[in-house]
Amino acid sequence: MKFEISEDTIIALATPPGIGAISIIRISGPESISAIDKIFSGKMKINDAKSHTIHYGKIIYNNEILDDVLVSVFRAPNTYTAEDCIEISTHGSPLITQRIISLIIDNTRVRPAEPGEFTKRAFLNNRIDLTQAEAVADLINSRTAVSLRGARNQMNGLLFSKIRSLRQQLVDISSIIELELDFSEEDIVLFQKSEMIGRIKDILSEIDVLLNSYSFGKVIRDGIHVAIVGAPNVGKSSLLNYLLKESRAIVSDTPGTTRDTISEMISIDGFLFRLHDTAGIRFSVDEIENEGIERARQVIKNADIIFLIGDVIVGFSEFLEEELHTLNSTVRVLKILNKIDLGVNSNYSENFRISAKTGFGINNLLAGLKEVALHGGTYTEKDIIISNIRHFDCLMKVKTCLIKALYTISENYSGEFLASDLRAAEISFSEIIGEITPEDILNNIFSKFCIGK
Ligand code: GDP
Repeated sequence: MKFEISEDTIIALATPPGIGAISIIRISGPESISAIDKIFSGKMKINDAKSHTIHYGKIIYNNEILDDVLVSVFRAPNTYTAEDCIEISTHGSPLITQRIISLIIDNTRVRPAEPGEFTKRAFLNNRIDLTQAEAVADLINSRTAVSLRGARNQMNGLLFSKIRSLRQQLVDISSIIELELDFSEEDIVLFQKSEMIGRIKDILSEIDVLLNSYSFGKVIRDGIHVAIVGAPNVGKSSLLNYLLKESRAIVSDTPGTTRDTISEMISIDGFLFRLHDTAGIRFSVDEIENEGIERARQVIKNADIIFLIGDVIVGFSEFLEEELHTLNSTVRVLKILNKIDLGVNSNYSENFRISAKTGFGINNLLAGLKEVALHGGTYTEKDIIISNIRHFDCLMKVKTCLIKALYTISENYSGEFLASDLRAAEISFSEIIGEITPEDILNNIFSKFCIGK
């Protein structure tokens, strides 16, 4: 597939819009340097400046000084986008940055950048592969130390190298088969059937390792959704508050006052947990409350783990427990008996005993939560983990093709079928790293970036 490499120059604010100490405007493309020279007045022209240097000066238009700035110059090809790049550090005022950006757009051929366009250019100019580009977005969106490390690993090209090496193994097999096909008249066999099967199975088992890492990778990247569910007044909000050590959820003695779902994030040993407090599910004539109940049902459907809360007074709601499994048949339910400080008179078949009031049992609960969520998994620097559904889907396609290839061999079908199975697998590998990736998929990936990245 052919990519259109843009010849034009783009500009965007790279820092969050709003007031801050400084803001940075980024320009990339062949006209970056001439554009800045039109409005920048410093000791020298930026055109005469060396790459990777910083220059103090003023942005002046119609004799009006817009701001004192620092201009950083990065000359192609050793830049983020592999093109000429300029970064203007301004005072952190939206008014200043907007005026400077408009000034450049109005007086040069530079145009506003689309979301993710800088990173897209880095990819199109072969500075990074697609998995590394995707990791840039993951890195920015990381909420915890572990997800950050996962994104960093991918950005450093760990997954890219792995995929490339697996694809190479496949290409090696393919080329021998193609060679055999070329000499098919002469009946030359370069490969024993058993060796070919062995080599394909080796690749398959490596793919399985990657595929199996996905559930863990998803946890690293997106976090684990925990729905806190229970009858009114058993202490759901109190537990959430205790966990957050702040009081955003409503804690009240009147049943049914937590009408909305409240979501918060906590990190346990660097892993992200998204906690959703739900309105107590029960039948109600109150319309607002019913809406809350509907939302609670949605949260339960999307949850990975459920905290089913009961208390020492009313125990657990059997109705709720049944409802949970109807809504989400695969979810793990942890039964947590709250208000243990009031004393327990009977056995409620709970997994954990806590008091959201005194904090009793909470550490134990969190350790248990982590254990259940990660299935005892750990994560080291060198682990290659699939955390992106797109990569997972492509690897599944590779797997399907290779299984088909094994079948083709075992049935002694013509080498041409085998060659075509292997080619299809190679294409799916190439799709992961972006060497053969349909334009709409690329656009979809980069449109999720923010402008200026
Ligand atoms: P929710 O409706 O399930 O969210 O319940 P709340 O968190 O609003 O708590 C209902 C009432 O139970 C409040 O008065 C809380 O102070 C009280 N409560 C919550 N947890 C505990 C606990 O562990 N021990 C005691 N004694 N009271 C609690």
